[in-house]
Amino acid sequence: MAVASLPAPTGAAALEAPVAATARPGAGLDGLTVATIERGDRLAAMRAGTLGSVHSWELVTAVDGPGTRLTVFLSGCPLQCLYCHNPDTLRMRDGTPVEADAVLDRVRRYIPIFRQTGGGLTLSGGEVLMQPAFAARILAEAKQLGVHTALDTSGYLGRNATERMLDNTDLVLLDVKSGDPETYRTVTGRPLEPTLAFGERLARHGLNGRGPEVWVRFVLVPGLTDDPANVDLVAEHVARWNAIRPGTVTRVEVLPFHQMGREKWHALQRPYALEDTPAPEPALVNRVVAQFRAHGLTSY
Ligand code: SF4
Repeated sequence: MAVASLPAPTGAAALEAPVAATARPGAGLDGLTVATIERGDRLAAMRAGTLGSVHSWELVTAVDGPGTRLTVFLSGCPLQCLYCHNPDTLRMRDGTPVEADAVLDRVRRYIPIFRQTGGGLTLSGGEVLMQPAFAARILAEAKQLGVHTALDTSGYLGRNATERMLDNTDLVLLDVKSGDPETYRTVTGRPLEPTLAFGERLARHGLNGRGPEVWVRFVLVPGLTDDPANVDLVAEHVARWNAIRPGTVTRVEVLPFHQMGREKWHALQRPYALEDTPAPEPALVNRVVAQFRAHGLTSY
């Protein structure tokens, strides 16, 4: 998912020197032990959730949730967003096999920082819910450790999230890339409906008193997602979820499009449709934020 994220290419074998930043230069895999495992065993371990395909990790502040976060980027995504900042995360087979225990060792190491800053663990990608067993295991054990947990997702594979996984998730960063189904398909190549269903499910799940908080993220791309009617539709969907369970979505973050991913598209020799698209002007960002606020939503 990681619409605001920019993990660096990996290739290293272990994760040791994280970078604290908001510009997301990426820390690769330093310090995370790479599993050496036969292919057949690897598939079984991935199904069991003891092994995952990981792109990279970072220690970041002020993005991906409250406080200082350990953000782990999983590989694989079913969407093909035109503005994807991380096109190198899209194929699961390009990731590196990492055991859940290795991620959890890293989580344990940072518990003092999480406590100091009110931070925690964020699973991002790619699309986390392409590896639901791996994600569920990590979220459950992090929760046992008393660590705040966040799941960054497009919601497209929301059906892969079990009720227990949602119980073990404190915050969902839900990317709603468009409110209009046609625009959504243009942006992502996929239908909008699963994301809407997941948003509604998150609202209903919370009726048991343990539902995750939700931050909706909307990437504002001039000429692609900025149509006022499209923004209003996003706002209406979010307002509807809050009508089901007041307080479900506590903020809508408007993320201005930027060109930080362009070089990755070039390096992968993939056609990049937004070559000449500018970042939105501040006035446009303000207009969109105002549209969300007009629907009673907290928006930045
Ligand atoms: S294709 Fe879209 S959903 Fe997938 S990682 Fe890129 S921006 Fe996120």
